[in-house]
Amino acid sequence: MTDRPSVLVIGAGIVGIACGIHLIERGAEVTLVDPEPPGSLTSSGNAGGLGSTEVMPIGAPGVIKRIPGWLLDPLGPLSLRWRHLPSMLPWLLHFHRASGRHEVERISKGLSSLLRRSMQDTRELVHRANLQNLITERGAITVYENEKSRQLDALEWQIKRERGIIVEALDAASIKQMEPALHNVSCGYFTPQWCNTTSPIRLAESLASFLHSMGAKFVRGRVDAFQEDDPLRPVMLNSTVSSWDKVIVAAGVWSAELCHLLNESVLLESERGYNTTLSDPGINLNRQIIFGDRKFVATEIEEGLRIGGAAEFAGIYAPPDYRRSERLLEIAKTYLPDLNISDGKSWMGHRPSTPDSLPVISKSIRHPELYYAFGHGHIGLTTAATTGHLIAQLSMGEKPDIDLSPYSIGRF
Ligand SMILES: Cc1cc2nc3c(=O)[nH]c(=O)nc-3n(C[C@H](O)[C@H](O)[C@H](O)COP(=O)(O)OP(=O)(O)OC[C@H]3O[C@@H](n4cnc5c(N)ncnc54)[C@H](O)[C@@H]3O)c2cc1C
Repeated sequence: MTDRPSVLVIGAGIVGIACGIHLIERGAEVTLVDPEPPGSLTSSGNAGGLGSTEVMPIGAPGVIKRIPGWLLDPLGPLSLRWRHLPSMLPWLLHFHRASGRHEVERISKGLSSLLRRSMQDTRELVHRANLQNLITERGAITVYENEKSRQLDALEWQIKRERGIIVEALDAASIKQMEPALHNVSCGYFTPQWCNTTSPIRLAESLASFLHSMGAKFVRGRVDAFQEDDPLRPVMLNSTVSSWDKVIVAAGVWSAELCHLLNESVLLESERGYNTTLSDPGINLNRQIIFGDRKFVATEIEEGLRIGGAAEFAGIYAPPDYRRSERLLEIAKTYLPDLNISDGKSWMGHRPSTPDSLPVISKSIRHPELYYAFGHGHIGLTTAATTGHLIAQLSMGEKPDIDLSPYSIGRF
């Protein structure tokens, strides 16, 4: 027997792992449960961007106007399987409400509170685990084909500057000098605060090993019920039921299913993203490139050059449509003509996206010892360390460093 609180973290993606490290450091006995190896789903194949500059929500007045055109364009950044439309209507209505000018202002402040400390929290986390070699600090470039397309994103850049993000305007000559492999772009921005991991999968796996070395237990299993509706008594198939002092739901996009079992209202969609990792791309990039016209990115990681993006709404269980990765490669060739696309590995992952782009970092409304850490959408890698820190503070009775009301589950 011990008087250390026992905490079960449901989900061992990058967010659950970061929660586990911060909890164990505060004296909790930590167990993570996941049917998959730690970090092996969404957290393994992302673009590796530590985008502390990304204070703009996905929904914005300009974005709403561009959605019909994107949906009609077979090479566009957005797609929707129409069969999925009825079930996501409440999410879409909330998304529409969250995309008004005043809401965007409010949401970007919520994102900024997390993002302004995210790099420091990430540096501290990787330092403790001695994984500094997995982080690079070279900034990112966002490029546009012409001034007209740059203007379409004007509000995003205005808001970034208002939130204190360093933004340096670039012309065609300076882009060429910084990234000789790039063609067909005429202007852009350099954001020097942007960082990257050299390998999302190795970062997640190494942090999980570090957590294991600190004494955390990893259990293979899927939570698929709660005994007698008690959130502290999750049930896994073929396993005896244990009781925990505290439970953290950190199951990425699958958290919606757990919230449903727990009678907690939430709006969470899988914003399915695609990429291809080219092991022999034939070109070099000096930093992450974000293509503003077509909304995709190119990132050099240990495994090769990863080209990806896209947002597909089709629910969690529809099979992947890898034609989307192929289309992204076709488009990438127009900007990177020397790109060798012959040896690529395609991947699809589920961004756990709320309609207002803010994650859920929250106490449950229903139960005093149940907590939520999910819904990080496009910035889960970036904000995992910060989420872990805040959830540990919240669940271990400390006053969280920042106001957590923007991330409350009560907003749904
Ligand atoms: C194409 C793409 C590019 C991206 N690029 C970036 C980027 O550059 N920078 C960035 O910050 N973010 C990026 N993201 C987003 C980022 O990858 C996610 O926000 C992040 O990985 C979410 O982490 P998570 O731990 O919440 O979820 P996950 O990594 O999905 O982990 C959730 C875990 O919960 C487990 N689970 C599910 N149900 C149960 C259950 N019932 N019981 C037990 N366990 C369960 C799953 O098996 C899984 O292991 C990208 C995403 C995509 C798809």
